[in-house]
Amino acid sequence: MAPDSVIRMSRYRLLPTPDQEVGLVEHCAHARFVWNLACEQQAHWRPGRASAPGYLQQARQLTEARAEFGWLRAGSVTVQQQALRDFAQAMRNFFGGTHRRPSWRRAGRQEGFRQVAVQPEHIQRLNRKVGRVWVPKVGWVRFRCSRDLIRVEDLDIRGMTRSARGTLEQPGRGVRQKAGLNRGILANAWGGLVARLEHKAPGRVEKIHPAYTSQTCSVCGHCTPDNRESQAVFRCGACGHQANADVNAARTIAAGRVVTARGALQPPGGAVNREPQSDTCLLG
Ligand SMILES: [Zn+2]
Repeated sequence: MAPDSVIRMSRYRLLPTPDQEVGLVEHCAHARFVWNLACEQQAHWRPGRASAPGYLQQARQLTEARAEFGWLRAGSVTVQQQALRDFAQAMRNFFGGTHRRPSWRRAGRQEGFRQVAVQPEHIQRLNRKVGRVWVPKVGWVRFRCSRDLIRVEDLDIRGMTRSARGTLEQPGRGVRQKAGLNRGILANAWGGLVARLEHKAPGRVEKIHPAYTSQTCSVCGHCTPDNRESQAVFRCGACGHQANADVNAARTIAAGRVVTARGALQPPGGAVNREPQSDTCLLG
């Protein structure tokens, strides 16, 4: 494994010992082997031939392969069967037209294995910062509870561009065309940036609804329109915190001090206290 790679359990960073890291990487290798075998069987299927083996048949083949290969047998049968189930789901997604055909997994890329339906007693919180998860054959692996969230303002891009563009019947509706165009370009660039962030940091980007962020104190959370001394200056009526209004709003968003786009009230640090529901280990 590359020295700079990070092992994650879903959104949480795992903190394995060196021995455990070897075990996790082995799970990945087994899952990859099983996945690629299933891939190969699909690739050999041609119209007219009997259908490629489904999950049940592949599960029987896995049992035979484990009987034959000691290194496969040494691994976790749960991890290996899950890779087959994941492949079967990937094929269903492919036939359903929502996903591309599952492809060959290469070592060192898209590495991972899944443990689903983890029993509640197999995930424990040790303290505020660290928890641990039971991984078959590897044992208790610690993970960091904080999620290093990236919070972004959830701009209503469609709303913004719609108001600028208007409709065919009511073009622009009094919006100055150039200003509207510029806003549209900015909103599109923002949407593109957020989409790329979500791609690079899956599960870690949280969109924060911008309502009241400009009136909310980033230090104490006090929220009132009176906090805005002027368009540019923020001064909190409760704690006296003073800052540039945009900087204060950005800090409020970063602290997650507002209602999230999902509609749930988001107290500061709330995400950290959420119980981990994770099931995926990823390297990379
Ligand atoms: Zn304040």
